[in-house]
Amino acid sequence: MKYIIVTGGVMSGLGKGITTASIGRLLKNRGYSVTAVKIDPYLNIDAGTMNPAQHGEVFVLKDGGEVDLDLGNYERFLDISLTSDHNITTGRVYQSVIEKERRGDYLGATVQIIPHITNEIKECIRNAASNPLEDGSTADVCLVEVGGTVGDIESMPFLEAIRQMHGELAQDEMALVHVTLVPADTMGDHKTKPTQHSVKALRELGLHPDVIVGRSEIVMDPGTKRKISEFCDVSQRAVISAATAGDIYEVPMELEREGLADVVTELLDLEKREADNEWYRIVSREYTSRITIAIVSKYGIEDVYISIKEALKHAGRRLSTEVRIKWIDAETFELQELEDVDGILVPGGFGTRGIEGKLRAIKYARENGVPFLGLCLGFQTAVAEFCRNVLGWTDAGSEEWGEGKHVIAILPEQEDVLNLGGTMRLGDCEIDVIAGSRIYNLYGSKKIVERHRHRYEVNPEYIDEIEKAGLKFSGRCRNRMEVCEIDGDSFFLATQFHPEFKSTPTRPSPPYVGFVEACRDNRREKK
Ligand code: GLN
Repeated sequence: MKYIIVTGGVMSGLGKGITTASIGRLLKNRGYSVTAVKIDPYLNIDAGTMNPAQHGEVFVLKDGGEVDLDLGNYERFLDISLTSDHNITTGRVYQSVIEKERRGDYLGATVQIIPHITNEIKECIRNAASNPLEDGSTADVCLVEVGGTVGDIESMPFLEAIRQMHGELAQDEMALVHVTLVPADTMGDHKTKPTQHSVKALRELGLHPDVIVGRSEIVMDPGTKRKISEFCDVSQRAVISAATAGDIYEVPMELEREGLADVVTELLDLEKREADNEWYRIVSREYTSRITIAIVSKYGIEDVYISIKEALKHAGRRLSTEVRIKWIDAETFELQELEDVDGILVPGGFGTRGIEGKLRAIKYARENGVPFLGLCLGFQTAVAEFCRNVLGWTDAGSEEWGEGKHVIAILPEQEDVLNLGGTMRLGDCEIDVIAGSRIYNLYGSKKIVERHRHRYEVNPEYIDEIEKAGLKFSGRCRNRMEVCEIDGDSFFLATQFHPEFKSTPTRPSPPYVGFVEACRDNRREKK
C-alpha cells in the first residue's frame, strides 16, 4: 500500500478535497486502484448531527455512515464506494481510545496523545486503506486528506501520526502533497510568502512536502514556481499550478497538463503508464441544449446540495444538456418565479420551516404539468400535497410538522427510536420496483439499491386511498413506501431515498436522467 497525504496551507476552502479526488483520478486513469480517507479534526463522532448550513451537505455512504461532503467528491471522481471507516474524526479516535482505557487495554499505562492517540490514528488510517474494494482486492494507493489547515491545534495529533508513519514506511511508500494559496497582489503578481510560511509550519512538525499545489485565480507563471521551488526545497516540476476552474471536473485535466501524474508516480515508484482519457471525454461532453431547474429549499447555500447539483450535472452531460439552477427560497417565493423554469425539484430537509412553500411549488408543478422531482422530504411533501389538494384532506401533513392528519409518520415499529443522532434510517436498502412503472423504466430493473437518510415514512393506513386517487407507490421496501409517481405525460416522480448519493459522471442516476430529459423535452415543446 502506498500513501499520498494531502495537507492544506494558509486557509481552508481552497478545494483540497477536489485536489485530492483529482490526484486519485489521474492514477485511476493509469489503471491504478485507489481508495481515499478524509481526516476531520473536529470532535464530532460523525457529520450526522452537524448543521449543513455551517459545514455543507452531510454525505451518506452505503453503510449508512453520515460523513463529510469530501467523501462524496471521492466517490464521484473515483467511482468507488467508501465506508464510515474512511472518515476519521477526532471524536471517533478519542472515543475508541477512551473505551480501550475503560476496558483496561492499556494495562495501567498513563494514556497520552503520543503514543496512544497517534497509534490509534495510524491504525485507523491503515485499517481504512486496507478495506477491500468492490472486487475484493485492496487499493494500490490510498489518498489521505487532512482537513483543516497546517498549524491548527486540532490537526496536530494527525500530522504527528503522519510524521511517524512517514518514518516507518519506505521512501517510495508515501508522498506528501501540500495544497496552498498563492494570492495575487493589486498588480496581479503572484505572492509566494503565504506558501513559504505554511511550508515552514509543516516543517516544524517534521514534515516536508514533496509536491506543492498552488491555488490561484490564474495560472502561476514559471517565475513564481521557481521561487516556491527555491524557498521550499521542492523541485520545480513538483510545483503545480491549480488555477480556479469553471467546473470541478476540469481539475484533473488541469493537473494532468501540469504533469502532476508523472511527479506522483515517480515519487511512489509506480510504473509509468499511458493515461486512458475516456473519463475526460465523459465529463466534458458538449452541450447542445440548456434547461433551468428550480430548486425550492430553505437553505440559501449551494454547498448544502452538492450531491444534487452534481447529479443534475452528471445527467445533463449524459444528455448533452446544460442544467442551470435557479434557487428558490421556500419561505418567501412568488409563484411567478416558477413560470420560466423547465422543471421543479424539491430536495431533502428537516423541520417545519419552508414546508408550506414546498407544498405550493409541488401543487404548481402538478397542476401545470411542469416536470417534478422530489427527494426524501420532497417525496413526503409530494404525498402530503396530493392528499391535501386531490383527496381534499386539508390538514394532511407529517408528524414532523406538527398537528394534522399524519399521512407521513413514525411507524409503530420505530417508536422506540425517537432519540436524535444515529436513529434515522440510513444507508443502502433494497427496493422492489413495480414492472412497467416510470421508475422501473428508468432503472430497467425490478430491484434497486439506493441510500437513505430519514426518519418518517408514509403512513400505511392511507396507502390504499392515496393510490386509488392516482398517486402510485411504485417502489417499496417491505411496508415502507419508497417511490411515488403520477401516470401521464408529465414527469411527476419522487423518491424517499436519495439517488444523488450514488450518481457519478460515468454512472448518472436514473431518476435524475429521467427528470432532466423530461425538462429538456418540456422546454422544446414550449418553444
Ligand atoms: N425530515 C424528513 C425525515 O426525517 C426527511 C429527511 C430528509 O429529507 N433527508 O423523514
